[in-house]
Amino acid sequence: MKRFLLASAGLLAITSTAVASPAAPADGRLVEPHLHVTRSGAAQPRVALTFDACMGKADERILSVLVQEKIPATIFVTARWLKHNPQATATLLAHPDLFELENHGLNHIPAVDRPVAVYGIAAAGSPEAVRQEVQGGADAMIADHIPQPHWFRGATAKYSLSAIEQIRSMGYRIAGYSVNGDGGSLFGAAVTEKHFAAARDGDVIIAHINQPTHAAGEGVARGILDLKARGAQFVRLQDVEDTGDDGTTLSMSPS
Ligand SMILES: [Zn+2]
Repeated sequence: MKRFLLASAGLLAITSTAVASPAAPADGRLVEPHLHVTRSGAAQPRVALTFDACMGKADERILSVLVQEKIPATIFVTARWLKHNPQATATLLAHPDLFELENHGLNHIPAVDRPVAVYGIAAAGSPEAVRQEVQGGADAMIADHIPQPHWFRGATAKYSLSAIEQIRSMGYRIAGYSVNGDGGSLFGAAVTEKHFAAARDGDVIIAHINQPTHAAGEGVARGILDLKARGAQFVRLQDVEDTGDDGTTLSMSPS
Protein backbone atom coordinates (compact mmCIF):
# COMPACT_ATOMS: atom_id res chain seq x y z
CA MET A 1 0.00 0.00 0.00
CA LYS A 2 2.76 2.39 0.90
CA ARG A 3 4.40 1.66 -2.39
CA PHE A 4 1.23 2.53 -4.28
CA LEU A 5 0.71 5.76 -2.38
CA LEU A 6 4.21 6.82 -3.26
CA ALA A 7 3.45 6.09 -6.87
CA SER A 8 0.27 8.07 -6.59
CA ALA A 9 2.03 11.03 -5.09
CA GLY A 10 4.45 10.96 -7.98
CA LEU A 11 1.72 11.48 -10.52
CA LEU A 12 0.93 14.78 -8.84
CA ALA A 13 4.35 16.02 -9.76
CA ILE A 14 4.64 15.03 -13.37
CA THR A 15 6.83 18.00 -14.16
CA SER A 16 9.46 16.98 -11.63
CA THR A 17 12.69 15.53 -12.87
CA ALA A 18 12.95 11.77 -12.82
CA VAL A 19 15.28 10.29 -10.28
CA ALA A 20 18.33 9.00 -12.05
CA SER A 21 21.65 7.84 -10.80
CA PRO A 22 24.42 10.39 -11.43
CA ALA A 23 26.30 7.67 -13.31
CA ALA A 24 23.44 7.17 -15.77
CA PRO A 25 24.45 7.59 -19.39
CA ALA A 26 23.20 10.53 -21.39
CA ASP A 27 20.45 8.41 -22.91
CA GLY A 28 19.55 7.03 -19.47
CA ARG A 29 16.76 9.50 -18.85
CA LEU A 30 13.36 8.27 -17.90
CA VAL A 31 10.42 9.27 -20.05
CA GLU A 32 6.72 9.52 -19.35
CA PRO A 33 5.25 9.14 -22.83
CA HIS A 34 2.12 10.82 -24.09
CA LEU A 35 -0.55 8.90 -25.95
CA HIS A 36 -3.35 10.24 -28.12
CA VAL A 37 -6.04 8.52 -30.14
CA THR A 38 -6.96 9.70 -33.61
CA ARG A 39 -9.30 12.63 -33.36
CA SER A 40 -12.90 12.31 -34.45
CA GLY A 41 -12.75 15.77 -36.02
CA ALA A 42 -16.42 16.07 -35.12
CA ALA A 43 -17.95 18.53 -32.67
CA GLN A 44 -18.02 15.84 -30.02
CA PRO A 45 -14.63 14.90 -28.63
CA ARG A 46 -13.32 11.36 -28.96
CA VAL A 47 -11.85 10.32 -25.63
CA ALA A 48 -10.21 7.11 -24.44
CA LEU A 49 -10.79 6.39 -20.76
CA THR A 50 -7.98 4.29 -19.30
CA PHE A 51 -8.01 3.07 -15.72
CA ASP A 52 -5.23 1.49 -13.73
CA ALA A 53 -6.05 -1.29 -11.28
CA CYS A 54 -2.70 -1.25 -9.50
CA MET A 55 -3.50 -3.19 -6.33
CA GLY A 56 -6.04 -2.90 -3.56
CA LYS A 57 -9.75 -3.06 -4.30
CA ALA A 58 -12.18 -2.20 -7.08
CA ASP A 59 -13.90 1.19 -7.07
CA GLU A 60 -17.55 0.33 -7.60
CA ARG A 61 -18.46 4.02 -7.95
CA ILE A 62 -16.58 4.06 -11.24
CA LEU A 63 -17.29 0.51 -12.37
CA SER A 64 -21.05 0.87 -11.90
CA VAL A 65 -21.19 4.11 -13.92
CA LEU A 66 -19.30 2.46 -16.77
CA VAL A 67 -21.61 -0.56 -16.77
CA GLN A 68 -24.87 1.32 -16.29
CA GLU A 69 -24.06 3.99 -18.86
CA LYS A 70 -22.52 1.43 -21.24
CA ILE A 71 -19.28 3.38 -21.52
CA PRO A 72 -16.31 1.53 -22.99
CA ALA A 73 -12.95 1.78 -21.26
CA THR A 74 -9.52 0.19 -21.19
CA ILE A 75 -8.54 -1.25 -17.81
CA PHE A 76 -4.90 -1.96 -16.94
CA VAL A 77 -4.71 -4.74 -14.35
CA THR A 78 -1.84 -6.15 -12.33
CA ALA A 79 -1.53 -9.76 -11.27
CA ARG A 80 -1.81 -8.52 -7.68
CA TRP A 81 -5.10 -6.77 -8.33
CA LEU A 82 -6.56 -9.74 -10.21
CA LYS A 83 -5.72 -12.06 -7.33
CA HIS A 84 -7.67 -9.98 -4.81
CA ASN A 85 -10.62 -8.95 -6.97
CA PRO A 86 -12.22 -12.00 -8.58
CA GLN A 87 -15.70 -10.49 -8.41
CA ALA A 88 -14.77 -7.24 -10.13
CA THR A 89 -12.76 -9.22 -12.66
CA ALA A 90 -15.87 -11.30 -13.42
CA THR A 91 -17.85 -8.08 -13.94
CA LEU A 92 -15.23 -6.79 -16.37
CA LEU A 93 -15.17 -10.09 -18.26
CA ALA A 94 -18.97 -10.20 -18.38
CA HIS A 95 -18.93 -7.04 -20.53
CA PRO A 96 -16.46 -7.68 -23.35
CA ASP A 97 -18.33 -5.09 -25.41
CA LEU A 98 -17.31 -2.45 -22.86
CA PHE A 99 -14.02 -3.44 -21.32
CA GLU A 100 -10.66 -4.01 -22.90
CA LEU A 101 -8.29 -5.49 -20.32
CA GLU A 102 -4.60 -4.78 -20.65
CA ASN A 103 -1.37 -5.45 -18.79
CA HIS A 104 -0.25 -3.31 -15.81
CA GLY A 105 2.42 -5.79 -14.72
CA LEU A 106 3.04 -8.52 -12.19
CA ASN A 107 4.03 -6.65 -9.04
CA HIS A 108 3.46 -3.00 -9.91
CA ILE A 109 7.09 -2.01 -10.11
CA PRO A 110 8.39 0.60 -12.58
CA ALA A 111 9.49 -0.86 -15.91
CA VAL A 112 12.99 0.58 -15.80
CA ASP A 113 15.86 -1.76 -16.59
CA ARG A 114 18.50 -0.36 -14.30
CA PRO A 115 18.55 0.05 -10.53
CA VAL A 116 16.94 3.44 -9.88
CA ALA A 117 14.14 4.62 -7.67
CA VAL A 118 11.12 6.28 -9.26
CA TYR A 119 9.26 8.42 -6.73
CA GLY A 120 11.10 6.41 -4.11
CA ILE A 121 9.96 3.06 -5.53
CA ALA A 122 12.67 0.63 -6.57
CA ALA A 123 12.36 -0.03 -10.28
CA ALA A 124 12.56 -3.50 -11.81
CA GLY A 125 16.29 -2.83 -12.12
CA SER A 126 17.37 -5.09 -14.99
CA PRO A 127 16.12 -6.22 -18.39
CA GLU A 128 15.31 -9.64 -16.91
CA ALA A 129 13.24 -8.07 -14.14
CA VAL A 130 11.41 -5.89 -16.68
CA ARG A 131 10.66 -9.01 -18.67
CA GLN A 132 9.30 -10.72 -15.54
CA GLU A 133 7.11 -7.74 -14.69
CA VAL A 134 5.59 -7.66 -18.17
CA GLN A 135 5.35 -11.40 -18.80
CA GLY A 136 4.14 -12.13 -15.27
CA GLY A 137 1.30 -9.66 -15.71
CA ALA A 138 0.25 -11.29 -18.98
CA ASP A 139 0.52 -14.80 -17.54
CA ALA A 140 -1.80 -13.91 -14.66
CA MET A 141 -4.31 -12.45 -17.08
CA ILE A 142 -4.31 -15.53 -19.27
CA ALA A 143 -4.64 -17.77 -16.19
CA ASP A 144 -7.80 -15.77 -15.39
CA HIS A 145 -9.21 -16.40 -18.88
CA ILE A 146 -8.54 -12.84 -20.00
CA PRO A 147 -7.54 -12.49 -23.65
CA GLN A 148 -3.85 -11.98 -24.46
CA PRO A 149 -3.04 -8.31 -23.75
CA HIS A 150 -1.51 -6.10 -26.47
CA TRP A 151 -0.85 -2.98 -24.43
CA PHE A 152 1.38 -2.52 -21.40
CA ARG A 153 1.47 0.33 -18.93
CA GLY A 154 4.09 0.15 -16.19
CA ALA A 155 3.74 1.37 -12.61
CA THR A 156 4.38 5.15 -12.36
CA ALA A 157 4.04 5.37 -16.20
CA LYS A 158 7.78 6.09 -16.46
CA TYR A 159 10.26 4.06 -18.49
CA SER A 160 13.80 4.02 -19.72
CA LEU A 161 14.06 4.15 -23.51
CA SER A 162 15.77 0.77 -23.56
CA ALA A 163 12.93 -0.77 -21.51
CA ILE A 164 10.44 0.69 -23.97
CA GLU A 165 12.32 -1.00 -26.80
CA GLN A 166 12.43 -4.27 -24.86
CA ILE A 167 8.70 -4.23 -24.06
CA ARG A 168 7.90 -3.34 -27.67
CA SER A 169 9.97 -6.34 -28.79
CA MET A 170 7.76 -8.52 -26.58
CA GLY A 171 4.85 -7.51 -28.80
CA TYR A 172 3.30 -4.69 -26.79
CA ARG A 173 2.41 -1.13 -27.43
CA ILE A 174 3.04 1.05 -24.40
CA ALA A 175 0.19 3.12 -23.08
CA GLY A 176 1.06 6.66 -22.14
CA TYR A 177 -1.69 9.19 -21.62
CA SER A 178 -2.46 12.84 -22.33
CA VAL A 179 -4.70 13.86 -19.42
CA ASN A 180 -3.89 13.06 -15.81
CA GLY A 181 -7.45 12.60 -14.60
CA ASP A 182 -7.07 11.90 -10.90
CA GLY A 183 -3.47 12.69 -9.89
CA GLY A 184 -2.75 9.09 -8.98
CA SER A 185 -6.14 9.03 -7.18
CA LEU A 186 -4.97 11.76 -4.82
CA PHE A 187 -6.87 14.72 -6.28
CA GLY A 188 -10.05 15.82 -4.56
CA ALA A 189 -13.37 15.07 -6.23
CA ALA A 190 -13.88 18.56 -7.69
CA VAL A 191 -10.36 18.79 -9.11
CA THR A 192 -10.69 15.34 -10.63
CA GLU A 193 -13.99 16.25 -12.25
CA LYS A 194 -12.36 19.39 -13.66
CA HIS A 195 -9.49 17.42 -15.15
CA PHE A 196 -11.93 15.09 -16.90
CA ALA A 197 -13.86 18.10 -18.18
CA ALA A 198 -10.65 19.47 -19.72
CA ALA A 199 -10.38 16.48 -22.08
CA ARG A 200 -10.32 17.36 -25.76
CA ASP A 201 -10.73 15.44 -28.97
CA GLY A 202 -8.12 12.66 -29.13
CA ASP A 203 -7.20 12.66 -25.45
CA VAL A 204 -6.34 9.58 -23.43
CA ILE A 205 -7.29 10.05 -19.79
CA ILE A 206 -5.52 8.10 -17.05
CA ALA A 207 -7.25 7.51 -13.72
CA HIS A 208 -7.45 4.79 -11.08
CA ILE A 209 -10.18 2.26 -10.42
CA ASN A 210 -8.62 0.70 -7.34
CA GLN A 211 -9.06 3.29 -4.57
CA PRO A 212 -12.68 3.10 -3.42
CA THR A 213 -11.99 5.14 -0.27
CA HIS A 214 -10.44 8.12 -2.07
CA ALA A 215 -12.49 11.20 -2.96
CA ALA A 216 -11.00 11.17 -6.47
CA GLY A 217 -13.18 8.24 -7.48
CA GLU A 218 -16.30 10.28 -6.90
CA GLY A 219 -14.89 12.95 -9.20
CA VAL A 220 -14.04 10.31 -11.79
CA ALA A 221 -17.64 9.04 -11.79
CA ARG A 222 -18.95 12.60 -12.18
CA GLY A 223 -16.36 13.44 -14.79
CA ILE A 224 -17.39 10.46 -16.92
CA LEU A 225 -21.02 11.54 -16.77
CA ASP A 226 -20.04 15.13 -17.66
CA LEU A 227 -18.18 13.90 -20.73
CA LYS A 228 -21.12 11.77 -21.74
CA ALA A 229 -23.42 14.78 -21.39
CA ARG A 230 -21.06 16.66 -23.73
CA GLY A 231 -21.60 13.91 -26.29
CA ALA A 232 -18.11 12.49 -26.00
CA GLN A 233 -17.38 9.44 -28.11
CA PHE A 234 -15.66 6.94 -25.81
CA VAL A 235 -13.19 4.56 -27.41
CA ARG A 236 -10.94 1.77 -26.24
CA LEU A 237 -7.31 1.59 -27.27
CA GLN A 238 -7.90 -1.53 -29.37
CA ASP A 239 -10.62 0.18 -31.42
CA VAL A 240 -8.76 3.19 -32.82
CA GLU A 241 -5.42 4.36 -34.15
CA ASP A 242 -3.10 5.68 -31.47
CA THR A 243 0.01 7.83 -31.47
CA GLY A 244 2.50 7.75 -28.62
CA ASP A 245 5.81 9.50 -27.87
CA ASP A 246 9.20 7.88 -27.45
CA GLY A 247 8.63 4.95 -29.79
CA THR A 248 5.78 3.57 -27.70
CA THR A 249 3.43 2.84 -30.58
CA LEU A 250 5.17 3.28 -33.93
CA SER A 251 7.00 0.49 -35.68
CA MET A 252 10.48 0.08 -34.35
CA SER A 253 13.35 0.82 -36.67
CA PRO A 254 15.71 -2.11 -37.10
CA SER A 255 18.86 -1.69 -35.05
ZN1 LIG B 1 -0.57 1.55 -11.26
